[in-house]
Order: sequence, then structure tokens, then C-alpha cells
Amino acid sequence: MAIPKTYHLVTLGCPKNDVDSEHLERLLTGGELLPVLQPGDADAIIVNTCGFIEQSQEQSMEAVRELAAAKRDGQTLIVAGCMTQLYGRQVKEETPAIDHIFGVGQWQDVARLLSVDVDAIFDIPESNVHVAGPSAYLKISDGCDAPCQFCVIPKIKGGLRSAPAGMLVKEAQRLVAAGAKELVLVGQDTTAWGEDLGMAVGTGLPGLLQMLSETVGPDVWLRLMYAYPSRVSPALIETMAALPNVVRYLDVPLQHGSEAVLRRMKRPHNVDRVHAFIRDLRAAMPGIVLRTSFIAGFPGETEEEFKELLDFAREIRFDHAGCFTYSRQQWTGAFGMDAQVPDEVKAERRDRFMRQQQKIAAKQARRFIGRTLDLLVEGTGEDEDGAPVVAGRTRREAPEVDGMVFARGTARVGDKVPVRIEEASEYDLFGRVLSHR
Ligand code: SF4
Repeated sequence: MAIPKTYHLVTLGCPKNDVDSEHLERLLTGGELLPVLQPGDADAIIVNTCGFIEQSQEQSMEAVRELAAAKRDGQTLIVAGCMTQLYGRQVKEETPAIDHIFGVGQWQDVARLLSVDVDAIFDIPESNVHVAGPSAYLKISDGCDAPCQFCVIPKIKGGLRSAPAGMLVKEAQRLVAAGAKELVLVGQDTTAWGEDLGMAVGTGLPGLLQMLSETVGPDVWLRLMYAYPSRVSPALIETMAALPNVVRYLDVPLQHGSEAVLRRMKRPHNVDRVHAFIRDLRAAMPGIVLRTSFIAGFPGETEEEFKELLDFAREIRFDHAGCFTYSRQQWTGAFGMDAQVPDEVKAERRDRFMRQQQKIAAKQARRFIGRTLDLLVEGTGEDEDGAPVVAGRTRREAPEVDGMVFARGTARVGDKVPVRIEEASEYDLFGRVLSHR
């Protein structure tokens, strides 16, 4: 292989993958390779795949097939990440144009293959960040020790590994210095942070939040994603409520609302416990925005159990909720379970859930009408009459997964401006920019 000078990187999957790609990019650019927008212009094409569920594997495969079909002589095609960690041999067999396969956590090996002298790049240890406009992801941990029967992540990523607090503080400082106005904390389970470093269950994250809050200062938002229900502790709630720059928002994937299904999934929380901590969250932070995700059609799920999920979601009134159909994954406990639910039943239940959720989300969104929210501006443009508009997110919306806010008026990307909310749909809010405070 001739020494590559340019690369094109395609990233699929979740924000944790974005962070891994950021790490790879820092290695490649540190080794003086140049990123290019078009795959056809690159000496090396790298695909960072997702293997979480069947649908994400299919999306990754499609991207790989497309790039392989267009690959020209002299180009190197590298496929890495979660999907190839699980199915590397099969992927290579199906797509012989791939030159190299890597699993997860092998970014330094990818860089070495592309002639980067990794050991000479002192400034680039493990990266835990991904910068996306005025927001940046900060990956506080990777891997997971939980026994969830539907999930292949522990097999792909291995057990919990928390990034040391000192390193996270340094990364946070670097990001804020580079202009980040929001840090989004991610990990497979952010609430487990520190347990592998010897901290008692549930005690690590509150301390880390406190430390990061002081590090970034009052004007930078901190947002917490992927909390594990049994670890949403009084200490965490108290800390979130006490720190003004931790946004009143929590993403806590609950997976189901039926006690029996939760037991089969080997989830440690029960429904009463969820009701209790949601009551505590709402009491400590009135108006807190809640996001969750559920699985429809886990093996053995009866119509009755699914209706329990509908009732549960209706009672709690999540601001944002996703519902995935159960995806049968090799190497998971649920793979061999009896009573797999037929695909059409899973899809019908997911659709029924989403129809209910759209109504709930629309109602939840309407409570913001008439209120003034700080908008983090991510884009600017004009409406059909040529009047200026801005788009961005308030504390109500996490990047990439929730809706957006559109407002008439002017501001620059990266500004935080007050916006009066005038209308709401189930996903988006609409309003106007007030004069800057
Ligand atoms: S906590 Fe999340 S990442 Fe860990 S096994 Fe359960 S679903 Fe998978």
C-alpha cells in the first residue's frame, strides 16, 4: 500500500461511536493525513460501523457495500467498530473489496496501518470527546457490566471502563476553550461511572458532575444521557438540582413498563421504583424533561404485558420516548428464548406505542408555549419570505435524538439567546428571538 495522504471517514451508530471516530481523526490528522469530503478523493476509506441491533447492522452493511462498489484501484477500504467486532469474518466474506477489518478499540492499529507514527503523537491519548457545532460529546465511560438479556453491547465492548476524572476535566477544559457551549455526557451507562475505579455504587457520577460543573463554568450546559434506572439515586437527583448548569433533562432508557417483562429482560429495577424516582426528579426539578426508550416484542411479551407498557408510558408522560422492535441478537440471553414474537406483531405494537407517544409528546411540548427558553443556536437561515430565522436546541432537546426549536430573529451560531415559544408540534417548538438579555 502506498503511504496514504488523505482519508474519508464514515461513522454510523450512536454518539459513543462519534467519540471513537473523533479519536481516530485526531490520530490521523496528528499523523498529517487530510480528511476529504468525497470518498472518491480519499486514499483510505474507513467505516466505523454499528452493531447494536439488526437494523443498524444493515445500515452499516449498506454503507460498506456502497463504498466497496465505488472503490477504485489504489484505495484502501477499512471497516471497523461494533459490527465487525461481532461479524468481521462474515462481513469480509460478503464484501471481498474490503482490505482490512478491525473491531472496537483498535483505532491506534487503524492509524498505524495508515503509516501514522502513533507513539510520536504525544498530545493524543485516548480521546473522550466529539465536537458537533456548539455541542460536544464527552464520553465518560465505555463498556457495561449489566446483564440485560436483549443487549449485545457487553459482548462487543466488554465490561465497564470509566475515564479518569482528571482526564475528563482536561477534555472539558479543552472543549470549552474551543468554544463548546454544551457538553453531553455519554457512556453505555453514565450512572455507573467510577464503579470500576473503586467508587461505591451510585456515588461516582454526582462527584464527577460537581467537578465538571465547576470546570466548565456557569454558562456551559451539562447534559446527562443514558442513565440506568436503578442508579438514579437521591444523591444524583440532589446534585443535578443543585448545579445550575446541569440542564433539567434526563435520558433514562427504561426498556419496558411491565414487571414480568423487566424480570425476563433481567433488568434490576421495578416499576414502582421508576415511579418513585420520577416523582423525586419532578419534585426536585419542576418541569424536568424526561426521555426514555422502550422495546416492543421482547420474547414472550403478551398483549396484556404490552398494554401495561402503554399504561405505564401514559401515566408518566415522557417528553420524548422512542420505541424499538426487539431485535434478536446472537450472543445475548434472549436469543434462545422461546416464544419469539412475530415481526408483524412487534411492528404493530411499536406503531401503536408511537401513536400514543406522539399525542403525549405534543401535549408535553405545549406546556412550553408562552415561556421563554434559552436557545443554543446551531444554524441560521431565512423563512420563505426572506425573514431571518435561527434553529437550535433548548434544554428540552438533546442533540440528534430530540426535536429542534425554530425562531424568527437573528443570532449567531453558538449564541445562547432567549426565545419566546409560541407554537409546538409533537417534536419541535417555534417562537421568536427576544432581544438579548
Ligand atoms: S445497561 Fe444498556 S448497554 Fe448495558 S447491557 Fe443493559 S442495555 Fe446494554
